Amino acid sequence: MADQIVSYSLGQNLYLNITNRCTNNCLFCIRHTPRGIGYNLWLKYEPSPEEILAAIKEPASYQEIVFCGYGEPLLRLDTVKKIASHLKKKDAKIRINTNGQAGLIYQKNIVSDLKDLVDIICISLNAHSASSYLKICRPVYGEKAYQAVLDFARSCVGQIPRVILSVVDWPGVDVEKCREIARKLGAEFRLRKFSEN
Ligand code: SF4
Repeated sequence: MADQIVSYSLGQNLYLNITNRCTNNCLFCIRHTPRGIGYNLWLKYEPSPEEILAAIKEPASYQEIVFCGYGEPLLRLDTVKKIASHLKKKDAKIRINTNGQAGLIYQKNIVSDLKDLVDIICISLNAHSASSYLKICRPVYGEKAYQAVLDFARSCVGQIPRVILSVVDWPGVDVEKCREIARKLGAEFRLRKFSEN
């Protein structure tokens, strides 16, 4: 196997590092911090589904198996589906951490593809308005990105058992407005502390 970290455990979860690509360039992205997450998650190349599966020893032994990485996992939708489908058969609980822009990436609603494969989806909202999102997350899609994230979240509610909107506590972000957006969408809300370490 190549000398790169494809999976790593934190607490009771196993995290899968499947891509370093992302359609955002957030000001607070952990990729810009000196220590990152404590592991070197820069990939020399994107691991194949077989390599990812080989990096997961006992799927059912984790509380959750989380697609995250130093990037946007849904840029590799087919790989996510293949791995999740395999892991579900082994009683694993699956979470995806996403920037919520899959609708723009694929130019269609892909949420039904994730139904029955994913237990929890955690969508980074990170802003209370489109203009604030543009400044903080700097999406390649420009102004339309924020609405796409909201549309994606709305579509997930009712199709995926748990939908969480997350916000990083960042200057200028109206956390209460974000909490209200999540409530109106019928999603859970999670505030995350920014850490430079
Ligand atoms: S969406 Fe996540 S991976 Fe992408 S730039 Fe923002 S924080 Fe980094």
